[in-house]
This record gives sequence, structure tokens and C-alpha cells, in this order.
Amino acid sequence: MDNSEALLSIQQADFNGSAGCVPAGWVLIPSGNREFVQTGYAEDVQANRFRRGGKLLMTTHKVRILSGGVALECWDEPDRCEICGAPMHRNGIAPVVLRDVPFGGDYCKCAISRIRCRCSKCGHCQDQPVPFKGSGHMITRKLEEYTEALLEEGGTLKSAAEITGLGKNVVKEIDK
Ligand SMILES: [Zn+2]
Repeated sequence: MDNSEALLSIQQADFNGSAGCVPAGWVLIPSGNREFVQTGYAEDVQANRFRRGGKLLMTTHKVRILSGGVALECWDEPDRCEICGAPMHRNGIAPVVLRDVPFGGDYCKCAISRIRCRCSKCGHCQDQPVPFKGSGHMITRKLEEYTEALLEEGGTLKSAAEITGLGKNVVKEIDK
């Protein structure tokens, strides 16, 4: 069973009382991003390079990429332009990738296809908001809180960056 077959089988499964419908090697758990609706899964690799004692070292991590969208009921989709009042129409998607909390030692990302609405008159665009996005960075609120917790527990910028997959500068900005 490949990833897309397994994902399809999970999406079609009825988890209320029907045991054995999750494919072998897979788990179904709440992501904590309540409004996220998953439609796909892929994997990538991230290499982190750093210096220690004059030596250039490298670690590699698997990156789990959860693709999907935001639940439609979370958005009051605009039918009128907030600038000029003309009708708004759906106009493609506005993709955004947010880093999420690592899982099982692997980094995680949510690749989200947001709906984009565009004004028929002035061209003003409004994108579907992502309620679980953290403030100021391309990360989930959950990862922001997790990173803050790592630092509060005495973790260094470097160790928090290595655990979460974030850049050291992003970790530094969260550490305020
Ligand atoms: Zn307009």
C-alpha cells in the first residue's frame, strides 16, 4: 500500500467502533490544528549544517508534509469587496506552508491551499485565513508554543532549532 492509498483508506474509514481499518504502519491521531483538513501526505528530507569545535557537522531529518486546507465553516467568505463594495469571486488558491510540531523525531509541515477571493472591479484579493497560524512566522501556533516551552525549560537557541527544524533566527525571535 503506498502513501496515497493508505491516506485514502484512512479518510474513508469509520473510526467509531470499527477496529482494524487503519492500514498497518499508520496511526490516526488528532493533529491539534483543529481547523486543518488533510488531503495528502508526502515526505522530504532536511539537512541541518552547523559548526562545532571548528568542524562542519550535518544532521538529517525526515520532513512529514501534511497537505490540505482549512475547514470551510471557519470562514465567512466575503461576497463584497471591503475596498470598493463590488462582488468578490473565488480566484484560485493561495498556498502557504507552515512548520508544525515535530512528530516521532521527524519535522512536520502543513502545506495549506487557502481559497483566494478576488474583487471583480478593483482586483483586491482576500485569502482564507488560517486560524491555527502562529503570530509573525510561517509556523503553527502549536509550534510557537512548543518552541517557547523548549526555551523556558532551559533549551538553547541551537537545541530548539535542531528539535523543531526552525532556523536559529526564527527561534531567537520567538524567544522574547
Ligand atoms: Zn474592489
